[in-house]
Amino acid sequence: MFYNSRLPDTGYRIPDTGYRIPDTGYRIPDTGYRIPFTVHRSPFTVFILNPIFVAMKQKPIKYWRLTIMKKSFVFLSALLVMAAITVSEVHGQKGLKVFISVDMEGITGVVHSDQVSSGGNDYQMARRWMTEETNAAIQGALDAGAAEIVVNDSHGSMRNILAGEVNPAARLITGSPKPLGMMQGIDETFHAVILIGYHAKAGTADATLDHTYSGGSISAFKVNGVEIGESEMNAYIAGHFNVPVVMVSGDKAVCAQVRAALGPQVVVSEVKEGIGRFAANTLTPKEAQKMIRANTTTALKKLNEFKPYKSTVPYQFEITFLYSHQAEAAMVIPGIERVSARTVRYTQANFLDGFKLFRALVTLASS
Ligand SMILES: [Zn+2]
Repeated sequence: MFYNSRLPDTGYRIPDTGYRIPDTGYRIPDTGYRIPFTVHRSPFTVFILNPIFVAMKQKPIKYWRLTIMKKSFVFLSALLVMAAITVSEVHGQKGLKVFISVDMEGITGVVHSDQVSSGGNDYQMARRWMTEETNAAIQGALDAGAAEIVVNDSHGSMRNILAGEVNPAARLITGSPKPLGMMQGIDETFHAVILIGYHAKAGTADATLDHTYSGGSISAFKVNGVEIGESEMNAYIAGHFNVPVVMVSGDKAVCAQVRAALGPQVVVSEVKEGIGRFAANTLTPKEAQKMIRANTTTALKKLNEFKPYKSTVPYQFEITFLYSHQAEAAMVIPGIERVSARTVRYTQANFLDGFKLFRALVTLASS
């Protein structure tokens, strides 16, 4: 409504058509610069900028008024800066989406199967510690500005975390079986993964309840020639969806393994130090929870330092079972190569497919 009434009728009218070719614009004297009319005729100027100027009791933009033009550029620049800040906040903190996978052997105070098996005498106590450490990580994520938090119960039956006591700011994935197991719920929309209560890979000295995926069937698991544990395995799954692992809690041994594999930028929370496989020098739960909360926030506040965990494709997988008959069972699947009495090998184009086959082979070996 402003420009129609204020702009002069410039340009060349094409006869009998009603169309007009606009003028070449206003030349700023002694500068060689030209202001095209289209700037002032844009819908943004007409319907947004000028009404705001009028409301602010300022003159609306006229095509030859350089002083007002300058003001409008200042105004537009301010708008752009505000938009940039808003966008960076959405990506940096306000839209932050965090995935938390919670195992049990690496929870503070846990040292024995009695505490991690649902029929065990100390299980009810240990699952409460597990729930409290989960809440500590949730609170740490909230402190960092997380907008969405998904927790996946990742131990045994995957029904350990007390749903009624989980911070309602998060969602809880509970129960089993789940297609992605310990990483059920992860996808490319997440910004970060936190691993709570994790343990070292099978065969690690002075590591609480060390094992790899299945204590009854797996002796070692290698990816592209490197032996890995569950932390790296789940970091690869997160990496498949381009999400980095940023914080891991557990005993001293798993923290060292994670940093060696994923890099020193990963924040670790050492809640205990193994004295053999069934004993540990451990923090009390309250102290561990403080550490987990603070470290989760620290890790999430430096997200730009992390990269998703990946390796070269195709992925070669090698499983060493505890017994030779378990390797025999694996041989019923086409494409599996027997390397030795207890070891089989196969190749897949991506980690996720290789992981699914790994689960199938572990199920076969355990049956
Ligand atoms: Zn476990």
